[in-house]
Amino acid sequence: MTPETTPASSARKTRVRIAPSPTGDPHVGTAYIGLLNYLFAKQRGGEFVLRIEDTDRTRFVASSEQMIFDALHWVGLEWNEGPDVGGPFGPYRQSERTEIYREYCDKLLQSGHAYRAFETAEELEAERKAQLAAKLPPRYTGRSRNLSPEEVQAELAAGKPFTIRLKVPSEGSMTFRDELRGDITFEYTNVDDQVLMKSDGFPTYHLANVVDDHLMGITDVIRAEEWISSTPKHVLLYKGFGWEMPKFWHMPLLRNVDKSKISKRKNPVSLNYYKDSGYLPNAMLNFLGLMGGGMAQPTEQEIVSKGLNTKEGDIFSLAEMTERFDFSRISLGGPVFDLVKLKWLNGEYIRKLTPEEFFAEMRKTVFSDEYLRAIAPLVQNRLETLGGFGDMTSFLFSDNVMPAETTWLPKKRTVEETLAFAGELLGVLEKAEWEASAIEAAMKQLGEEQQWSVKENFMLLRAILTGSTQSPPLMESLIVFGKARSLDRVRRFIDAQKKVRR
Ligand code: GLU
Repeated sequence: MTPETTPASSARKTRVRIAPSPTGDPHVGTAYIGLLNYLFAKQRGGEFVLRIEDTDRTRFVASSEQMIFDALHWVGLEWNEGPDVGGPFGPYRQSERTEIYREYCDKLLQSGHAYRAFETAEELEAERKAQLAAKLPPRYTGRSRNLSPEEVQAELAAGKPFTIRLKVPSEGSMTFRDELRGDITFEYTNVDDQVLMKSDGFPTYHLANVVDDHLMGITDVIRAEEWISSTPKHVLLYKGFGWEMPKFWHMPLLRNVDKSKISKRKNPVSLNYYKDSGYLPNAMLNFLGLMGGGMAQPTEQEIVSKGLNTKEGDIFSLAEMTERFDFSRISLGGPVFDLVKLKWLNGEYIRKLTPEEFFAEMRKTVFSDEYLRAIAPLVQNRLETLGGFGDMTSFLFSDNVMPAETTWLPKKRTVEETLAFAGELLGVLEKAEWEASAIEAAMKQLGEEQQWSVKENFMLLRAILTGSTQSPPLMESLIVFGKARSLDRVRRFIDAQKKVRR
């Protein structure tokens, strides 16, 4: 079942892809790279493919794939091929392609570009520890590389499990071209003999990614900078298979305002957060399009003829971005994901709406029937008049909620230990499946570990979420408010408290 449907290499039609892994909430970085791929394809009359890279079963989150589709649709990106829309190079979900990877991995074994490695997990761990103790970078030393065919047969006959590894040359260096950076050289001594196929028969990212990019006729790999260090392995795979290489474009990573790599510790990174908090999708997409400097600012003449003010020079629709975005302008200094700027931009978009459109946007998001319907049962039994609804639920309609210290600080706890506990709580909530019993169990477990009573523990979160000691039921409120916004509220509480104490 080898689908050799790759288009002829000459005069190839531009084909690009994003390949997100369904490991949790849809990330702003996926929309950023998605937008760049979309613009690249559109500008060249090419095709934009969405592939789901779900081979890492340990990190797989079932609801994640649908959330990726929904979030990308929300910002307004459409793809030509993908698991949901089909296409001639499918399946587009890697878990449905495992046979293909096995077949290709066998080819590498036969041609000597890969080998079976029989070391056990314990042996590898012991090796790693020894290297760390000797202050050496941990890497596989390739002991199985030089087994004779007879030795391999003996191991196989003994039923020993094995992985398949890439045979990286032991000396010398390699150079590949990055379209934004020029030539990049790696010494082979810094490239590990990457596992291509795990002992359970599942491929790793590297093998599946290269096989699919080839079989799906991808001409240009446009992805985040963090994959540069994987590229030497990918190049070796292309060479091992004897395949034509795509062009590589590694985009500058999004950064927090302090220039560190964007992280959920400092910024909400889930697209769900922005959607649920009432950011407008076209403002979000516009903002992402400004990252990296690829958007040419309007000329003096345009500013005058269109009557733009200087700031409005940053406002672009998707169609305008398609027209003007210039990949040769991209600057490699990390683009800053600046929430202040995003909020400003969003405000500009809100002001451009007609009153009717504004009302419609409110009703689609923060005042949707769906949201109100979910909230109503939380308060029905507690209300004396319908007019009290707002008093009881304002925390579900607010962006800023900051409880007074008397509300959140348990009697027998210090500020320091309470903030430390809140930090632990944030970690636990991040990992929890957003479902009442799962959240409750995870919180109780943390409470037991840290010796916090259920009362102290739940009161703290209640205060952070609602700003008050009295509220509708906590678990239900968390569910209705949503994971992304609840996490953000806890994070902002901790940040704010730390700031006032600095
Ligand atoms: N699955 C990788 C990711 O999650 C894809 C990286 C690439 O584009 O090669 O980002």
